[in-house]
Amino acid sequence: MPAHRDEEEDKPCRACSDFKTWTKLQNKSKITTPSKPLPKQAKECPLDKDELGRSTWGFLHSMAAYFPDKPTKVESDNMTKFFNIFAQFYPCEPCALDFQEDIKKHPPKTKSKDELAKWLCERHNIVNVKLDKPVFDCSKVHERWRDGWLDGSCD
Ligand code: FAD
Repeated sequence: MPAHRDEEEDKPCRACSDFKTWTKLQNKSKITTPSKPLPKQAKECPLDKDELGRSTWGFLHSMAAYFPDKPTKVESDNMTKFFNIFAQFYPCEPCALDFQEDIKKHPPKTKSKDELAKWLCERHNIVNVKLDKPVFDCSKVHERWRDGWLDGSCD
């Protein structure tokens, strides 16, 4: 993914870059002595693209896994609104733009927990394919995000 910058402040966008890229960009935009070592990832720093992604997917899949089996119309409509608003404000801009395009083609399916979890799993797989990551088996989405693996390893 190309390096993105925070346009308002003209500095590298940490939420749009993996940690290595961000560190390089950060060092380019600072006047540093050439021999200075790159900073190590410290605790409790702003999230980079991958940390943000992992945490966000965890939240989104968990939210889908705990959505009602039979939502009311209001719950269903609000979940659709949530994803449209989420796609507008996700802090990694290039990720957000692609996600907006994807959900335009594949609008949120919010008629039940199973439908929503499957829809979200498919959205995540679109990103996985783009990033050359393995495709997740969506039949196992509730094992991963709600019930724990059938082999008992999460019990
Ligand atoms: P992640 O992809 O973060 O997955 C976390 C865990 O979810 C996995 O360990 C696995 O157990 C489980 N999982 C994997 N796939 C699925 C699935 N299909 N359904 C259910 N569970 C699954 N990064 C970019 O570089 N470019 C982008 O355009 C981009 N777009 C993004 C859009 C969104 C909406 C989000 C939330 C993130 C995006 N990211 C993007 C970040 C990217 O998806 C990853 O989060 C990041 O690369 C870290 O990947 P990871 O290998 O740790 O696992």
